[in-house]
Amino acid sequence: MIYFRFLDIPAYIIAYTIISFFGLCIGSFLNVCIYRLQLEDPAERSLVKKSSHCPKCGAKIHWYDNIPVFSWTVLLRGKCRSCKEPISKRYPLVEGLNWFAYMLVLTFVDVQNYPVHAILTALFFSVLIVIAFIDYDSMEIYPGQLLLIVILAVLSALFSHTLTIPQRIIGGLAISVPFFIIGEVSRIFIRKNTGEDFRGIELGDTFLMLVSGLLIGTKCICASALIGIFSAAVIGVINKIRGKDSKFAFGPFLAFGLVFGTLFGNQIIDWYFSLFEYPDVYAMIVR
Ligand SMILES: [Zn+2]
Repeated sequence: MIYFRFLDIPAYIIAYTIISFFGLCIGSFLNVCIYRLQLEDPAERSLVKKSSHCPKCGAKIHWYDNIPVFSWTVLLRGKCRSCKEPISKRYPLVEGLNWFAYMLVLTFVDVQNYPVHAILTALFFSVLIVIAFIDYDSMEIYPGQLLLIVILAVLSALFSHTLTIPQRIIGGLAISVPFFIIGEVSRIFIRKNTGEDFRGIELGDTFLMLVSGLLIGTKCICASALIGIFSAAVIGVINKIRGKDSKFAFGPFLAFGLVFGTLFGNQIIDWYFSLFEYPDVYAMIVR
């Protein structure tokens, strides 16, 4: 369902402009989070104090070189102004992804009737972007990141009333319990075969699906897991063909699944079960 048809055209342009601005600025802040939260020195992990510096030459980054996407692509062309060393493509990528996520929310969430739900969904996507990139770098999902999603779930329960409390609890358990069981069983097999001690599905991924389920409910978390597992399987096969390491972070794929599962999970699951309602299809496959 696309909701912007309910707005008249000028309101639609204003809404997209304002939300684009927020999407890019918050995306820029997410870069700071992804970079600083992974620094070795705890004193430098602060997200608020001091301005940004080039990680290579230490030069202060001026405000005009810090405009999301635009500075990197047009003004700097991917190079630091003072030392000319390349600046990671990740900075405009994260800003662009956050912008895109907010555009998806504005287009596919009923913002007019559920404004709080829309804001919480947008913030959820921002947290998922940070989780995805930090997990990609370090293979870790930190408790603080998961706590942010719990806070969003509590705010959603208090103010948006899209799900009941039992629906949230079932949503939390629907994927995390099977993930935990698969993790434990795979751990036994991996230990037997290789002597190494790790799970097929890590606890961080399991907890991510637990807290996300509290926020988005059963149908959406199931659709998210399906999209996440399927996309990870596709990349896993591609990596195998290319002869790359088969162990990679699952978090980015789950985050990808969670974005689309949150937006379209209800439709995906309803569509899936509707397949079994057609008598001819039913007769064909169920005997
Ligand atoms: Zn520099």
